[in-house]
Amino acid sequence: MTDTKPDLKGRLALVTGASRGIGYFLAKELAACGAHVIAVARTVGGLEELDDEIKAAGGEATLVPLDLSDMAGIDRIGGAIHERWGKLDILVANAGVLGVIAPLGHVEAKVFEKVMNINVTGTWRLIRSVDPLLRASDAGRAIVMSSGAAHSARAFWGPYAASKAAVEAMARSWADETKNMSLRVNSVNPGATRTAMRAQAMPGEDPETLPHPSEVAAKILPLASPELAETGLIFDVKKNRFTRYQMPE
Ligand code: NDP
Repeated sequence: MTDTKPDLKGRLALVTGASRGIGYFLAKELAACGAHVIAVARTVGGLEELDDEIKAAGGEATLVPLDLSDMAGIDRIGGAIHERWGKLDILVANAGVLGVIAPLGHVEAKVFEKVMNINVTGTWRLIRSVDPLLRASDAGRAIVMSSGAAHSARAFWGPYAASKAAVEAMARSWADETKNMSLRVNSVNPGATRTAMRAQAMPGEDPETLPHPSEVAAKILPLASPELAETGLIFDVKKNRFTRYQMPE
């Protein structure tokens, strides 16, 4: 992908999980390219820090403190965007939880349900809430955060892997539904990144060996460009290219 930053002046971007990690830096990049960023997460301190950084760089943000298990709250976001702007140009469905790294037989029901609720149901609810707004844009772009775990399905990563496989399948279905429109929908595999989630998954790993979320965010940014042609694909950040989902033989 090109390293040229897209011109996002006058465009509206919604980013979930914007209080830290990959979502924080992607929100910052989008605002630096001119987009008005609607930043969603639970941690108000993280959102305010983002807002300060965006404003200091001359950008604009609207903060939405919300727990994505609040499905009616997700619906309200779509309604509020409709009333104020009438359309949405960029969706970054990035918020997610790991749950627990454990054998499937040891996973507590409430942990499994939370992973599915935030990662899968929350993402679907968000898609449902903003789909008409993205269709109303002249170049709607949806970026859905997946993971290599969706395909590697490694031992002990069961709930998270299942949730990411579901999210990726949903993004591909959505892309197929909208392929004849200007809306482009792609999943992203960011690869191992130096964030709180990665530290939770791999506590023994030296974080300094991993790319900083700002580096990863910069590589994802072109997927928000009005120039983007691809849809229904998976963008692999490490390879810096799209990969196509392979049907099993
Ligand atoms: P972090 O744990 O650093 O950040 C997760 C973000 O999601 C936070 O902003 C958090 O905000 C938000 N979030 C979590 N739960 C909720 C909730 N209930 N309601 C609202 N927001 C919530 O994770 P990363 O930056 O590492 O991960 C971002 C995405 O990238 C995730 O989808 C993850 O699965 C994916 N990914 C990450 C990889 C990595 O190595 N880091 C590798 C592959 C994929 P708050 O707590 O303030 O609500």
